[in-house]
Order: sequence, then C-alpha cells, then structure tokens
Amino acid sequence: MTAQIPFDNSYARLPERFFARIAPTPVRAPRLIRLNRPLALQLGLDPEWLASTEGVEMLAGNRVPDAAEAIATAYAGHQFGGFVPQLGDGRAILLGEVIDQSGVRRDIQLKGPGPTPFSRRGDGRAAMGPVLREYVVSETMAALGIPTTRALAAVATGEKVIREEILPGAVLTRVASSHIRVGTFEFFARRGDVEGVRVLADHVIARHYPDAAHAEKPFLALLQAVINAQAELIAQWLLVGFIHGVMNTDNMSVAGETIDYGPCAFMDEYDPAAVWSAIDRQGRYAYGNQPAIAQWNLTRLAECLLPLLSNDTELAVQEAEEALSAFPPTFEKAYQAGLRRKLGLLTEHEADAALGRDLLSAMAANRADFTLTFRRLSGAESDAEKDGAVRSLFADPSAFDEWAVRWRERLALESTDAAARRNMMRAVNPAYIPRNHRVEAVIRAAVDRDDFGPFEELLTVLSQPFEDQPAFAHYAGPPEEQERVRQTFCGT
Ligand code: AMP
Ligand code: MG
Repeated sequence: MTAQIPFDNSYARLPERFFARIAPTPVRAPRLIRLNRPLALQLGLDPEWLASTEGVEMLAGNRVPDAAEAIATAYAGHQFGGFVPQLGDGRAILLGEVIDQSGVRRDIQLKGPGPTPFSRRGDGRAAMGPVLREYVVSETMAALGIPTTRALAAVATGEKVIREEILPGAVLTRVASSHIRVGTFEFFARRGDVEGVRVLADHVIARHYPDAAHAEKPFLALLQAVINAQAELIAQWLLVGFIHGVMNTDNMSVAGETIDYGPCAFMDEYDPAAVWSAIDRQGRYAYGNQPAIAQWNLTRLAECLLPLLSNDTELAVQEAEEALSAFPPTFEKAYQAGLRRKLGLLTEHEADAALGRDLLSAMAANRADFTLTFRRLSGAESDAEKDGAVRSLFADPSAFDEWAVRWRERLALESTDAAARRNMMRAVNPAYIPRNHRVEAVIRAAVDRDDFGPFEELLTVLSQPFEDQPAFAHYAGPPEEQERVRQTFCGT
C-alpha cells in the first residue's frame, strides 16, 4: 500500500457553501511523535507507509495524497450560551473519508495544519501540549469503550507557535465518524438556509442514522436519534468522572462521539461542582451540569430542524418538545444502569438509585477519589478486609461503613456469585484514568525536555484501563498535594 489512500469524500460532494477548499500549509521539519498502528489497520491504512517519510509528510500536511480533497468545514455555534454565527474549522482541515474495516465511514482530519478561511485572527496551528492531551484522553476514552473521536498520529512540526508563551507546534491526525456538530446545523439555520439544513440532515441520516430514513417522520427520527446518542454519551462521561470542559454547541457531535478535547479533565476527588477549564468562570460546564447542558444544546439542534419537522410551526414545536422531553429519562436510565453495574448490581430494585446517590453524597462530603472508590469496591463486598482500602479514601471512614452495611444487604438479593460480580465490577470500574497530574507531567517532559518516554508509557498504561498492571500501580494513585492540577487550558 502506498499513498493511494482510498478516500471517498462524501462531505466534499455537498454544496460548496458547506466548506472551503484549502490545502494544509507545509511545516518546516515534520517528525513523527506517535503513530496509532492498531487504528491505522482498522482504517485499512498501511502503518509502515504512514510511518515512512512520505506518510509523515502527509500527517504533517506537507503532502496531500491524490484522492484527498482538503476542506475546512463551515459551522456556527453557541459558545458559553452566546451565539457566534461563524466559527468553522479555523485550525483543522479534513483530508477526506475512508471506509474502515467494519464498513464505517471515518473522517481523517488534520488538527493544527495552518490557516483556513475560518481562522479569523488565529494561526490555524496547534501547540504540542494540547495535541498530546487530546491523544491521551481520546485514546483512553476509546479504551474505556466510550464513543469518541480517535487519534491516528501526532507529528511535531519543528515550528514554534505563539500563545501566552512560545511553544513547540504539532499536528494531530483526528479520526471521527464525522465532524458534523450541532453548530453545523446552526450555521445554516441561522442564515435562514432551510435547504442547507435539509441537505445536511439528509447527509447525517444517511451517514449516522440510516434507520431514520425509513421512519414515518425521518427528520423527527433524526432528532430523536441524536438526543438518544447524547443522553447515553453523557451518562458514560459521568460514570467515569469525565468533564468535557467546553460543551459549546460547536463541540457537540451529532454522531454522539466525544469531540474537541480542550480543557477536559477526569476528576480525582468526587465533586459534582468540579470545573477545570480556566475559561469557564461561571461553572457552566461543571461535571454535574453536563446533562442539563447537553439538553440545552440539543434544544438548539431541535430549533434548527423545526422547518423540516412540519410546515405548521406549532406542530413542529410540539414534536420537538416531545422529543426533547425524552432526554432526561433516557439519560437517567443509562446513568442508573451504569451506576448499578459499578456497584455490582445486575437486577434492578427501587431503592438502588438512593443507594448510588448516598454513596456519591458520602464521597463528595468526604472528598473520596472517584475512580479508586469504585475500583476498590470491586471485590470488597465479600472480603471485609478489603474494606480498609475503600474506607481510607473517605475523610471520615465511618461514612463509608454506614453505607457499606446497606450495600451488602442489597448485594444479598443478587444471585451472582462473588467472583463473577468482582469481574463484572472490574470491567466497568477502571483502575487507570488519565489523571491530570500525569497528563501534565507528560506534557512538561515533551515540551521542556523533548522527552516522549512518559507520553509513551502513559499511553501503554491507559490502553488497558481495566487491567491491574502491577508494574504501573503508581499510575493509579491520586496526585500528591504539590502535584495537584487545578485548572486546564484550551489553547490548542
Ligand atoms: P474550540 O475552542 O476548539 O471549540 O474552537 C473554537 C473556534 O476557534 C473554532 O472555530 C476553531 O477553529 C477556532 N480556533 C481555535 N484555535 C484556533 C487557532 N489557533 N487558529 C485558528 N482558529 C482557531
Ligand atoms: Mg471546537
């Protein structure tokens, strides 16, 4: 296999107003930092070629393969609640789409390839730190089984980018089911371009929700499918302690994948009000607000689709409202089912939600580590000695003891044997997450010392987040007081 990547670019066949044709700007000295070989194979690409000089030139934007049709897509979006009519790919260029080994169409996009017509005053470039963070966090999400965009490669550009400080530049190759956002719909809807909304909706149905095409009302079915996908996605975020950080409508994928890793974070101590993003001063995108914000964003999507739902505005609004009202119960069902699994419960009892909620309240009141609490619960129920490892995570360990009595009573109603339950719990309660202090240390080593060893090692550990890895046990722990990271920054 060579540079003949079998691109099939459906988005570039949409009307010209959907995007701008623009080639990446070559960089001075491309150097491969990391290639995701398993992902390359899944995409039907030859890892040896991608790692070759020619391949790295493509991954850096210095060479555009024959069948690629480089475009920057147009979108708008609500940022922190305020509408911005034109955003678009200001620092990303879509090379094209390939059909992967399981028949799924996937975008291959360069993030940080230089200016596009949507760059406004930006340079279209990405700094090394955020590229590494996105690589680590998105690949962990994939390993956790959570829908996400992927990282195919990271390449150093040999150029500097100017942010608050001068930083080394990098390009991330991002793979996604598509890069279509709620904000892509808003771009057309806000201009009164109903035909644009319709063309986009048809494209999304064909690409992501083919069943909707056969529904009695395909556009309503599309809205319902996106609502459903997002409700399940956000439930999964909450169940692993993930905070996206910038849930603007332009950062919400209609395919239901986690996208646009900026100032994102996994929390250490459980705190529903946790906010990391330095730019989120009001806490709009706090951990516990994410379901409500998702519904707010989906309401913006529904508004865009109104003209397609019915010519009768009142009827359209009614249908959209009904569809949106399904979000809270769908989220809650997915969240509660996930929380029950985290607690080792296979059957469903009325008091389970309270049991889960009371554990979380005790964790919040006692600053217990989210990931470790659940991981250590896996196996603790039949082994009172293991209690010590869980209760010590609570500032006041007796808070756990009280709850554990109720938990054991509830477990007695289950018919699963202890070993099976332990395995089930360990398969949903990760031992390893990309803790902020680890990600930060990886970035410091790479940026300050050109040392990518810590990055490689962290990726190795996080590729199997549910496995105990004795050699890497220290990666499971929370930060020491002086290692604590209090904020994350966008600035990709
Ligand atoms: P984000 O914060 O990733 O959601 O990006 C918001 C918008 O700002 C998008 O339209 C980006 O394309 C644009 N943007 C962010 N950084 C840059 C940059 N360095 N150069 C050009 N555009 C950028
Ligand atoms: Mg974005």
